[in-house]
Amino acid sequence: MSVSHNLGFPRIGVNRELKHAVERYWKEQIDATELEQCGRDLRERHWRQQAESGLDFVPAGDFSWYDHVLDTSMMLGVIPQRFADSANQESVASDLDTYFCMARGRAPSGQATMACEMTKWFDSNYHYIVPEFVKNQSFYLAHEKLFEEVAEAQALGHKVKPVLLGPVSYLWLGKCKGDEFDRLSFLDSVLAVYGEILSKLKRLGIEWVQIDEPVLVLDLPSEWKKAIESSYNRLQVRGLNILLATYFGSLGSNLHLACNLPIAGLHVDAVRGRDQLNSVVDHLPKYKVLSVGVIDGRNIWRSDLDDIIAVLNPIKERFKERLWLAPSCSLLHVPVDLDQEFKIDTELKSWLAFARQKLDELNILKHVFTAEQDSVHDCMQVLKHTRSIIQSRSSSTRIHRAEVIDRQNMIDRAMYKRHGDYEMRSHKQREALRLPNYPTTTIGSFPQTVEIRRARHAFKSGAMLQHDYEKQMKQEIAETVRQQEELGLDVLVHGEPERNDMVEYFSEQLDGYAFTDNGWVQSYGSRCVKPPIIYGDVKRKGDMTVRWASYAQSLSEKPMKGMLTGPVTMLQWSFVRDDQPRAKTCQQIALALRDEVLALEQAGIPVIQIDEPAFREGLPLKRSEWESYLKWAVDAFRLSSAGVKDETQIHTHMCYAEFNDIIEAIAQLDADVITIETSRSDMELLDAFADFSYPNEIGPGVYDIHSPNVPTIEQMVILLRRAADCIPAQRLWVNPDCGLKTRGWPEVKAGLSNMVAAAHQLRLA
Ligand code: GLN
Ligand code: ZN
Repeated sequence: MSVSHNLGFPRIGVNRELKHAVERYWKEQIDATELEQCGRDLRERHWRQQAESGLDFVPAGDFSWYDHVLDTSMMLGVIPQRFADSANQESVASDLDTYFCMARGRAPSGQATMACEMTKWFDSNYHYIVPEFVKNQSFYLAHEKLFEEVAEAQALGHKVKPVLLGPVSYLWLGKCKGDEFDRLSFLDSVLAVYGEILSKLKRLGIEWVQIDEPVLVLDLPSEWKKAIESSYNRLQVRGLNILLATYFGSLGSNLHLACNLPIAGLHVDAVRGRDQLNSVVDHLPKYKVLSVGVIDGRNIWRSDLDDIIAVLNPIKERFKERLWLAPSCSLLHVPVDLDQEFKIDTELKSWLAFARQKLDELNILKHVFTAEQDSVHDCMQVLKHTRSIIQSRSSSTRIHRAEVIDRQNMIDRAMYKRHGDYEMRSHKQREALRLPNYPTTTIGSFPQTVEIRRARHAFKSGAMLQHDYEKQMKQEIAETVRQQEELGLDVLVHGEPERNDMVEYFSEQLDGYAFTDNGWVQSYGSRCVKPPIIYGDVKRKGDMTVRWASYAQSLSEKPMKGMLTGPVTMLQWSFVRDDQPRAKTCQQIALALRDEVLALEQAGIPVIQIDEPAFREGLPLKRSEWESYLKWAVDAFRLSSAGVKDETQIHTHMCYAEFNDIIEAIAQLDADVITIETSRSDMELLDAFADFSYPNEIGPGVYDIHSPNVPTIEQMVILLRRAADCIPAQRLWVNPDCGLKTRGWPEVKAGLSNMVAAAHQLRLA
């Protein structure tokens, strides 16, 4: 008998039910009771589907209204003072509203308040809400959600394995507000609450609890390693087994530590950490459970089951029934159900597996290792079928394009370098662009109104003719340009009305990409993305953005900024082929973008922004792998941008990144201007740029576009003054944190008008 289990299931629902319900609640179109009901329905369905896939346990606690790290903060009573007022009223709605207020600065009830910071979850495109600690932070069991959900699953007849974010990872992911102090000083009080949580789970009849410590795949400082050790020494509840879950990589130098903790079981990522799997098998005492994450939870390819079986066979010999099977990590990062895809052709579809299909694969493996006579025949059939599909994919001709490979082989180093250095370029650009000090601009997108989205859907579904669609988009562009002129912005954009998504839009115009109808993955809160699938060599089919940008430029004397998505982001936010190195795929995309950049320049666009919001997120979790990543990622950006003449100003944009570690690489991109997210973190990010004396221009975001609140002139002036302390004024730009597509026009107009006024104030000073 082998146990199969899952670390977490996508919570959004196959039709993004959660997104829709939460957004309706925010708009006060439904009340808390209706929202709760939607959550219950989703959990009920997801547990049932998982149980039907033969899992021995279903996870509980993986559901979340917004984010599981924020859930953990709520559970531990880590609610910053500015939200405390609404936290004191004891109704369910106010609890939920406190929660949403922390996430996004606003909820149906309570005061609008500055939201908590949000950042990337390890190297994924999922974002979590950063726990905010203050000096004398107290921790107490403040929220019953986990226990309620456990009881709910039990009442439905499921065997439940609750999932908790571990205490050390939780502290690691948090941030101290105010003076710097050691987060680890809270460990004792946090552990006391975890102890209480575990005892309570035990009383609910729980046998196994999964505690996630993804920090175990990082290069941990020694005091954090010690914290892991002391935590699990202390978190002992008789009769309750802890399965410690690690994922997103190998354990690296934490292997001995993890294997020797006093826990009942260890889960390891056998996809990304495959190289180390044998060492884990050698070091983990055989009385412990070894959960092997063999199904890739971060990608959508069908598993090579033969290969996995070959890996597992010797482990099964040694661990017997203590070998557990699971996906590598939570399935949060993949879409729900391939059966809901009707557009992808059958060949390509046969190469894929989404969350539900992955659980089916797991079920096959479980049967193989359980080897009950009646299922052997069926298993063999499935294995045979899988084998033929895996073979057909590797030999398929639609994957390989000779002209792309040839071009890659011809790249020479000069293609990575701009003609002049920044000094020279900035001089020529000043002449050409004639911008004031503290020039104002936006990050690219303007509100995606209902009309825009309706037109796009109609066009895509064939209900609207190309001619009518283009006409409507042009009207949108004209209106957006007019608004920007009226607001007095200095560098304009066309507003991106034609783009559903910054990655999908470009991939649709490139060979080698495929698309899903419904392959949604949660990015943050109610925001979902539909990553395209790169299955073959990438090639540009023709101009992608030129007609929109040049139309916009024709309407204004002000410089227009062309808008492209960079090669690293195109890679990072897609499901990437697993049959060649990522670097090679990225270079193909860079070549395609290089052609587009040159086409824009040719068409008279003087400023071109190449967005790289995912540049930091692509950084490997282990330092030893950084150098090689940064080398190919920087090269890809430069390959795409360096073909232009000195007068053409290249911008790049990145959101929510910790720049300290990679500031040198950012400088190596050699973009003339970088715009970054900073407003929520009080310009903290600028320290890295100042310490390093970043050589080129910077636009630190002063307008938090992830919140519906409109910043005042004074607030933005304060932020800008703070920025001007770190960066010479001649090199500062004034702009929002990110694109405005998710916002409405009234708030955008108000926000940008204040922003322009703030820039004027600084020019006067
Ligand atoms: N140009 C894009 C926009 O404005 C950038 C989005 C992003 O950085 N995520 O929407
Ligand atoms: Zn952004």
